[in-house]
Amino acid sequence: MTELGNHNAGIVIVGAGIAGVQAAEGLRKAGYDGALTLVGAEPHMPYDRPPLSKEVLLRAGAENTIALRDENFFAANKIDVMLGKRVCAIERPDRRVVLEDGSRLDYVKLVLATGSRPRVLAGLSPQAPGVFYLRTLADSLMLRATLARGGRVAIVGGGVIGLEVAAVAAGRGLAVTVIEAASRVMARAASPVIGAYLAKRHQEHGVAIRCGVSVDSARQDGDGCWRLALNDGCVVEAEIVVVGVGVVPETSLAGAAGLQVAKEGVVTDGFGRTDDSNIYAAGEVAYHVNGLEKGRQRQENWHHAAAHGAHVGRALIAPDTCYSEICGYWSDQYDTHLMVSGLPAGDVDVVRGDVTTNRFVVFHLVGGVVAGASAVNAAPELRVAKLLVRNRARVPASELQDPSTDLRKVAA
Ligand SMILES: Cc1cc2nc3c(=O)[nH]c(=O)nc-3n(C[C@H](O)[C@H](O)[C@H](O)COP(=O)(O)OP(=O)(O)OC[C@H]3O[C@@H](n4cnc5c(N)ncnc54)[C@H](O)[C@@H]3O)c2cc1C
Repeated sequence: MTELGNHNAGIVIVGAGIAGVQAAEGLRKAGYDGALTLVGAEPHMPYDRPPLSKEVLLRAGAENTIALRDENFFAANKIDVMLGKRVCAIERPDRRVVLEDGSRLDYVKLVLATGSRPRVLAGLSPQAPGVFYLRTLADSLMLRATLARGGRVAIVGGGVIGLEVAAVAAGRGLAVTVIEAASRVMARAASPVIGAYLAKRHQEHGVAIRCGVSVDSARQDGDGCWRLALNDGCVVEAEIVVVGVGVVPETSLAGAAGLQVAKEGVVTDGFGRTDDSNIYAAGEVAYHVNGLEKGRQRQENWHHAAAHGAHVGRALIAPDTCYSEICGYWSDQYDTHLMVSGLPAGDVDVVRGDVTTNRFVVFHLVGGVVAGASAVNAAPELRVAKLLVRNRARVPASELQDPSTDLRKVAA
């Protein structure tokens, strides 16, 4: 039995998303055999979020294929899963958390894996009929049913989620308008080459993309139609409005408990520890140290949430190495499978392959070093590119774009 396992109270993990589940598994793998409780506000067994804007929106029944683990996993690993329970306070002096129903759970160590919540736009309340934000399975099922009934769709925000929803809606033959405040789509998440490529794909599918404009006011009329007045004087009419303008870290518990919180998340070190040595934070909520980068950062992608959750779980038992991970994300839009590793854009972006063939890679160079890569329908090439990123390879642009250069040799 580990030292922590000798306490009756055990370890409590708040948040049953990917980071929380990975933390629980990381603890067991590291040899922790004491009491372990995973508390989640949502009523469902832990599930994967990326399919919510892809398969689940596209296909009835896909929601039955998104469990993060099968039910046996939790029993076999003696993880007590409490679902539909929101933790509403942390009583640090007594080392216990308070649940919404007033019950309390003692902890010897606490992990906050509370993720993020959507940023809400003024005038477009998530409760308003016809307005959708997309974070949970319930959100996705409601949106799927609404899209099936038809109507014009306005998507506020041309980031990953907005464009994935646009692809599904356009694929159903609906009229879709994307409203993006930045001068191009995917401005935060992708390089200009990838942004332009995706914008073109959407336009080929009939999606109207309006960049450089924002919603000044929104009004729903008696006919159920939303009228979004843009700051350039235009009005976009739609029965269905989907808002995807980013997320904010779910730090309210940590903040109310007096833990150090920045606007980027709960402040942690390279092991997930907060400024209270009994409380850790993992995944998207953590403003964390990554040994491969300078300073702290917050990442909003599945790879990080999974890797960081596992790392923090292990670190609770065996804090040997600082979190050091090159993260990235993927996105599916129509028949485009985009994979990004490391930085999504550089000060120089080098294309290898032909953009018009729908299969190419973009290397993102920072100061001549390969700091990231984006692959469109080119998973094998991304595997090699990841090695270049990991090795911080300095490869001339001319070599990267030359199809005769064997990048496996360069990466070796
Ligand atoms: C629609 C959608 C599509 C995505 N697609 C991709 C993709 O293609 N590729 C990619 O890399 N990333 C994608 N992501 C991002 C990825 O899913 C997230 O980075 C990841 O889910 C973060 O995991 P997490 O466990 O840190 O937080 P979350 O997944 O947000 O889980 C946190 C959990 O904690 C619970 N919680 C919060 N507060 C409390 C409380 N007080 N008490 C109890 N429980 C609480 C929440 O209800 C939630 O279930 C997508 C996200 C969404 C929403």
